[in-house]
Amino acid sequence: MHAHRAALLHCLADPRAVGIECSYQYFEDGLLLIEDGKVAQIGDAASLLPTLPAGVKVTEHRDALIVPGFVDTHIHYPQVDVIASYGTQLLEWLETYTFPAEARFADPAHARAQARFFLAELLRNGTTTALVFATVHPQSVDAFFAEASRLDLRMIAGKVLMDRNAPDDLRDDAASGYDESKTLIERWHGKGRLHYAVTPRFAPTSTPEQLELAGRLLREYPGLYLHTHLSENRAEIEWVKELFPERQHYLDVYDHYRLLGARSVFAHGIHLCDDECRRLGESGSAVAFCPTSNLFLGSGLFDLARLEGHGVRVGLGTDVGGGTSFSQLQSLNEAYKVLQLQGQQLDPFKALYLATLGGARALYLDAHIGNLQSGKDADFVVLDCKATPLLARRLEQARSLKEKLFALTILGDDRAVRETFAAGRSLHRRDRPQP
Ligand SMILES: [Zn+2]
Repeated sequence: MHAHRAALLHCLADPRAVGIECSYQYFEDGLLLIEDGKVAQIGDAASLLPTLPAGVKVTEHRDALIVPGFVDTHIHYPQVDVIASYGTQLLEWLETYTFPAEARFADPAHARAQARFFLAELLRNGTTTALVFATVHPQSVDAFFAEASRLDLRMIAGKVLMDRNAPDDLRDDAASGYDESKTLIERWHGKGRLHYAVTPRFAPTSTPEQLELAGRLLREYPGLYLHTHLSENRAEIEWVKELFPERQHYLDVYDHYRLLGARSVFAHGIHLCDDECRRLGESGSAVAFCPTSNLFLGSGLFDLARLEGHGVRVGLGTDVGGGTSFSQLQSLNEAYKVLQLQGQQLDPFKALYLATLGGARALYLDAHIGNLQSGKDADFVVLDCKATPLLARRLEQARSLKEKLFALTILGDDRAVRETFAAGRSLHRRDRPQP
C-alpha cells in the first residue's frame, strides 16, 4: 500500500451527458491510496489520513496536480523518426518519409530499440495507454509488446495488414497477413494488460480478400480491436472511390467487410457524410481526433459536435509521426483551436475527459482505466504546476480550477509531467536519469 498526497482531479462522466459540474471530482488536498497496482481509495487527505493502516508510506507532491494517465487513441510507434518531416500531405508523406522508415523494422534489433524509445517517450508525456500501429513485420509487434509487457503497461497494438499499393518490402499477402496476425493474437492478446488490434493500414492498401480475412479474425477471437484510418484527406477519399466503386462511401468499404463495432477505432474521420456518422454511432465504433496531425498534414478540421451528435465515441490521438507531439496536453491545445475555427468551444473539463476517460470509453476500457475510482488500474500522472516560469506565473493568477486547467492544457507539454505511474509503479520521473 502506498499513498500519494496532492491536488487530485479526475472525470466521472462525459460533461455532454451530465453537465460540467457533475462530470468531475476534485480534491484540493487529496489522497490517492494504491494497493496491488490498483486504486484503493481517493478522497480528502484530512479525512483519509487518520484511517490509513500504520506504516503506509505517504508521498507528498508539492505544487502538483494528479490526473489519470492520458489515453492516446491513435499513434504509430515506427514513425518516431519521421516526426516533423517537411512539406507534404498524406499520400506523398507516406511514400516519401513513412514507408522507408517502416521498412527498417524488418530488423528486430531496430524494432526493439525503437519500441523502447517510443514507450519511454509516451511515459515522459504522461500517456499510459495507447492504441498503436506497428509495421507489416510481425517482429515489430513482438518487439513492442515485449517492451510494454516488461513495463506492465495497458497497451493495444497490431501488425499492419497491407497487401497492395505499397513498396515490395512492406507488403504481406491476404493469407500471410491473416496467419501472422493469428500467431501474434495467440501470443499476446490478453497477456497481462496487452490487447491485440487487427490493423489494416487503410482501405487503399488492402485487397478485398485481405479485408475479408480481417473481419474473420475479429469474429474468431473475442475482444480484439480493429484499428485503421478513415477519411483523413480528400485525395485519399477519391482513391478509395476508384478502388471500391461499388461501395456507397469510404466507411461502407469497412462496413461491407464487417469491420465496424465495439472496439473498432477509426483515425481522423474528417470528411464524413451524414450516413457515415450515423453508422459509426449506431455500430458503437470510435473515432480518434488527431488535431496536431490534421493541421500538420493539412488534412482538415475535425467536427467534434457533429460526431458526438451522432452518438459516436471520440478519443484523442497524437498520430505521431503525422502528429507533431507526443503530448496530449499539446493535442488539447490544438484541439481547442481546431474547434474554435468551427465556432465550437472545448471546455477544459471536456478536454480533460477526451484525454482520459473519454479515450478509455472510446476503447471500451473504462472499466479499467480513464479515472481514479477505486478498483481501476493505478495509472496516473503528476503534473507540475510550476514546470516553467510562464506556467507558474499564469497558474498563480488563475482564479478557478477551470482557468487553471485550461492554462495547463494550452501551455503544458512534457515539461509539465513530473512523474508518471502505471499499475502503481513510477515509470518516469523528470528529475531521474533515463536508464
Ligand atoms: Zn495514423
